Amino acid sequence: MHLELLTIGDELLLGFTVDTNGAWLARELAAHGIMVTRRTSVSDDAAEIAAAVEAALARTGAVITTGGLGPTSDDLTKPAIAKLFGRAMHEDARVVESLHQRWTSLGRRGEIPRSNLQQALIPDGAEILANGHGTAPGIWLEDDRGRWAAMLPGVPREMRGMFADALLPRILRHVTNTQTVVRSHTVRTTGIAESALSDRIRALPAFDLEGLSLAYLPGWEGVDLRLTARRLDAAEADARLARVAASLRAAAGKHVYGEGSEDLAGAVLADLRTAGKRIAVAESCTGGLLGARLTAIPGASDVMLGGIIAYHNDVKQHALGVRAETLQAHGAVSEEAAREMAAGVRRALGAEVGVAITGIAGPDGGTPEKPVGTVCIAADDAGIVESFRAIMIGDRQEIRQRSAQSALSLVRRLLRREA
Ligand code: AMP
Ligand code: MG
Repeated sequence: MHLELLTIGDELLLGFTVDTNGAWLARELAAHGIMVTRRTSVSDDAAEIAAAVEAALARTGAVITTGGLGPTSDDLTKPAIAKLFGRAMHEDARVVESLHQRWTSLGRRGEIPRSNLQQALIPDGAEILANGHGTAPGIWLEDDRGRWAAMLPGVPREMRGMFADALLPRILRHVTNTQTVVRSHTVRTTGIAESALSDRIRALPAFDLEGLSLAYLPGWEGVDLRLTARRLDAAEADARLARVAASLRAAAGKHVYGEGSEDLAGAVLADLRTAGKRIAVAESCTGGLLGARLTAIPGASDVMLGGIIAYHNDVKQHALGVRAETLQAHGAVSEEAAREMAAGVRRALGAEVGVAITGIAGPDGGTPEKPVGTVCIAADDAGIVESFRAIMIGDRQEIRQRSAQSALSLVRRLLRREA
């Protein structure tokens, strides 16, 4: 089963809105063994919409659109596609009724605005896809050759609800062959470059991708290794994904911290629980980002005690006990200062583990010896201290994110004595 996606809206072409609908639908469809062969975006223009749907139907005979179903003058999807299918529009009594019900249930009085009632105009012969999360109904329109266009709203929450509740079951009924699936598995790594990873994977004896595709996805969290199985039955896809993922884990070794969408902060919390230790954080250039990462994980409070944002040197000295001589001799951005910060926050909060970040996130403040991006990180596990200095790449935001991730990684390695 193949189909195309068409996302509609001026905002998509102007770049104000990222086309998350297209990405989400592509993932969902793939998971059900339906291949998206093309994604297109057009503006709120009836001729553009009709031309794009016509071309998609000529190629695959099936297209899902999002956007342009609302009550305003820029919502042209329905009339444009109805005209393409040669259908007139009629007011649908059930949609009018549901609009009235929604109007009163929201406590609104008086008449429904005319523009809202326009949503009850449905192409002749269309099927209605119920909207449990908003007003605009979705539309399924099929021609006598079995070619179809399904129209979903643009608002992502409404679109997702309607897809899951109404459209996906409709498509699965329509297709006979959904025995094969598209399935992915991600192995997450951090602290190793993609080139080094690729060398390690190639060096594995008798490494075989077994027909899966492997994507290297680098980002500030590290490099994700994503395996994808296509056109296999579900059991075969799962078996191959499990075998090849095990090889990737062996190649990446200690740099692997999780699978799928697991977060390194969650892995650190789990290691702390295993070790029966609690953590406290001292942050300068990240200003609380590390604490936010840890506390974003539900249930963090059993091992995450808290933190001190020691941005100014006075706070480093008075709240964390960093010595004036250390700051004078080495500067606030130094491994020496980071080590004293980690020890200081551990003491101040009564934790077994302390971790500290100090650095220059830029865009100003760099020097030849300590350019923008220089970050010093230290972790202290009951007096066993590890630290390092690195130059993080990226803008201010990315330097801060990479720093928090590196700090989590250091804590993990120290707890496992792999530092
Ligand atoms: P519409 O149904 O065209 O009126 O779209 C309503 C709102 O949904 C827009 O203002 C956007 O914020 C959002 N939206 C529309 N299309 C997309 C898309 N492809 N991806 C993400 N958001 C979208
Ligand atoms: Mg729109």
